[in-house]
Amino acid sequence: MSEPILIVGGGPAGLSAAQALSAVGRKSILVEKETELGGAPILSGYAKLVPSGEWAKDAIGGMAQRVTDTDLVDVRLGARVESFSGSPGAFNATLSNGDSCHVSAAILATGFTHFDSINKPEWGFGSHADVVTTVQVEQMISSGKGVYCPSDGRAPERVAILLCVGSRDRQIGREWCSKICCTVSANIAMEIREQLPECSVYIYYMDIRTFGLNEINYYWRSQEEFRVKYIKSRVAEVTSDGNRLLIKGEDTLVKRPISIPFDLVVHAIGMDPNLENSTIADTFGVDLQTEGNIAQQSSYGGLAMTSRPGVYVAGAATGPETIDDSIAQGQAAAMAALAVAAAEAAE
Ligand SMILES: Cc1cc2nc3c(=O)[nH]c(=O)nc-3n(C[C@H](O)[C@H](O)[C@H](O)COP(=O)(O)OP(=O)(O)OC[C@H]3O[C@@H](n4cnc5c(N)ncnc54)[C@H](O)[C@@H]3O)c2cc1C
Ligand code: SF4
Repeated sequence: MSEPILIVGGGPAGLSAAQALSAVGRKSILVEKETELGGAPILSGYAKLVPSGEWAKDAIGGMAQRVTDTDLVDVRLGARVESFSGSPGAFNATLSNGDSCHVSAAILATGFTHFDSINKPEWGFGSHADVVTTVQVEQMISSGKGVYCPSDGRAPERVAILLCVGSRDRQIGREWCSKICCTVSANIAMEIREQLPECSVYIYYMDIRTFGLNEINYYWRSQEEFRVKYIKSRVAEVTSDGNRLLIKGEDTLVKRPISIPFDLVVHAIGMDPNLENSTIADTFGVDLQTEGNIAQQSSYGGLAMTSRPGVYVAGAATGPETIDDSIAQGQAAAMAALAVAAAEAAE
């Protein structure tokens, strides 16, 4: 009987790899640095997910529960992998809690880090209490309180959501598109309109990237059914007139300067590479790509491969990913890791 498979990271990608392995009767060891499973959707308190419309605590919390409930997954919370040596079929890992384990393969599902809006100071985060991030709005909604202005708790009458904060921004070294934030923002805008029907909601955008069916179900629906307004613009700064927040910039359709007052401004923050990636790369002996994500080899020759044989990668550890794609990649990585064991058994 071959050794278990090591999974690092208990977000959607890692949970899906663990579920896939247990579905075929294979043991895994799931190492998660936090004290709870679920990754960003649970740890950051997301509300209703796109595109399923299910609450994160039910959808991803359900995945975590199924993994916890099976004896085939040995969950190690509050732990990291400190060293990793050996070759495919016979690796040895030591964990930060002092344990060591023999594993046949490893799956890195270590995810991403939310962009810190403090790195975009001209857009008011950190200097105005009522400039918040999409993560904070998700938390307001999932806590049941609904959307409010943090400065005094009042319900906002005018909300602006600024897209591409920490994405598609060469000035701050983040050229990538974070893929899901247009759709998440349209979803949040509809939630606000549902909760506060008198509230006007504006989305400031460079381009809209509500890919696939999201174009119909989020972009058009948010406008036609929920009267969310979209402004194609370049935002220069977010200031205050002493009473309300002011968004100053240029309407790039009519090419005119605009300055519009709001009660609440929301940064649609992007997905940075996991801040720990250089340590993870050193520990596992895998390459990173230019932007700092874990480098994935071309999929044509095999699934989920990193630069090191027997070590696989899945989900947002490879770059911005949706939950559905992270889950699919977790399954692909599980399949690849199983192939190591199959090759070993055939020898
Ligand atoms: C505001 C916002 C809202 C979003 N909403 C949606 C949505 O509605 N629908 C959707 O499809 N996508 C959404 N996304 C994207 C979604 O968050 C990702 O697709 C998803 O979290 C990726 O899952 P993952 O498992 O790859 O990574 P993560 O969720 O980041 O999970 C990684 C896990 O690995 C752990 N970890 C990290 N480093 C280590 C280490 N060194 N050792 C051990 N454990 C480690 C982390 O603690 C974490 O638990 C949203 C993103 C943002 C920013
Ligand atoms: S998904 Fe939309 S908001 Fe997010 S980075 Fe891409 S274009 Fe910008």
